[in-house]
Amino acid sequence: MGSRWTYLDYNATTPVRPEVLARVAEVMTVGGNPSSVHRFGRLTRAFVDRARESIAELAGADREQIVFTSGATEANALALRSLARRAAPGGRARGASRVLISAIEHDSVVGAAHALDLPVETVPVTADGVVDLAALEKMLGAGGTAVVALLLANNETGVIQPVATAAKLVHSVGGVLHCDAVQAAGRTPVDFPALGADTLVLSSHKMGGPTGAGAVIARELSLLSPMLIGGGQERGLRAGTENAAAISGFGLAAELAISDLSKTNNISSLRDNLEERLKIMAAGVRVFGSTAARLPNTSYFALAGLDNETQVIALDLAGIAVSAGAACSSGKVAASRVLRAMGVPESLARAAIRVSIGWGTTRTDIDRFCAAWSEFVTRQMARATGTACFAAAAH
Ligand code: PMP
Repeated sequence: MGSRWTYLDYNATTPVRPEVLARVAEVMTVGGNPSSVHRFGRLTRAFVDRARESIAELAGADREQIVFTSGATEANALALRSLARRAAPGGRARGASRVLISAIEHDSVVGAAHALDLPVETVPVTADGVVDLAALEKMLGAGGTAVVALLLANNETGVIQPVATAAKLVHSVGGVLHCDAVQAAGRTPVDFPALGADTLVLSSHKMGGPTGAGAVIARELSLLSPMLIGGGQERGLRAGTENAAAISGFGLAAELAISDLSKTNNISSLRDNLEERLKIMAAGVRVFGSTAARLPNTSYFALAGLDNETQVIALDLAGIAVSAGAACSSGKVAASRVLRAMGVPESLARAAIRVSIGWGTTRTDIDRFCAAWSEFVTRQMARATGTACFAAAAH
């Protein structure tokens, strides 16, 4: 991203870290196939092996539990399909009869769940954006072996979910739990054994790595059955020549994230500063999920009367990239089903924009956002009232 730009859309994708870019180029320059026996193959294999170690360390997992994929969409599909179809050791889920997904899952989980030929039920969330555990318990008690999907942090609100508690509930009735940890990884500690999930998914490009790499972490690899077959890669669980450059970049991004998480970094103070200033600029602003535990990098907010698409466009013209939170792949802004699930009225949901920050964000970026948003709000209010009476304030 050029310096003319302020990029505040890290939950959509993070800018690739410079060290990662160099690593990707290095692996592509070697140019081997990790399955080849010769020097180029061995060098490339070493990059993939190191990445497996790094991803395992980031998630507190064992490297033997990791299967690399092309990204989290594929990983979610692989994990959910496998959990639904395969018998799990230890008496869990011998062939599921239904799928329970939280109301705030990513589209890739929703899509994979609906492709399973099983009834799909939606677990509600509270007004804070946290899964309703009492509702989950009740639904689990209604009978039938369930595959449950609960993400670790929501991509729109950043709200962190009680995955460990949910996993206990699910296991107590013989079900299995899948966790999409894409937005949490690198931003908050992810401890696979402590979460108790049967499968967990990560994506490289949400943590400073390149697109084109993701991973499923499985409690036992025997839980997984491959979607892509024909080659022996990834212990037969994901055929196809490994994207060694992307995987290696993913691994290095994980190493950098581990180091960042171990230091006090200023991501949450930048986000908190933004939210304090939003409230000064517009007292009526509502920050979604702010009463729950949230990722330190995400702020999803709305001021009644504004339109999210217009805000995103106006900010883009001012050199600032943010998201309307629920952009679909066509680039059009859809009404947020996450906000709907939280009981937010449609009119307010239509005003919501998401600022998500990360490793490259500075105080200047927050200042630039506040100046541009304040100007936008002042203009809109002046237009609405015919006078410039709205108080734009501190940047
Ligand atoms: N899950 C979540 C929570 C996400 O935010 C995303 C990306 N928007 C995905 C899954 C899909 O990840 P990928 O782009 O790696 O397929």
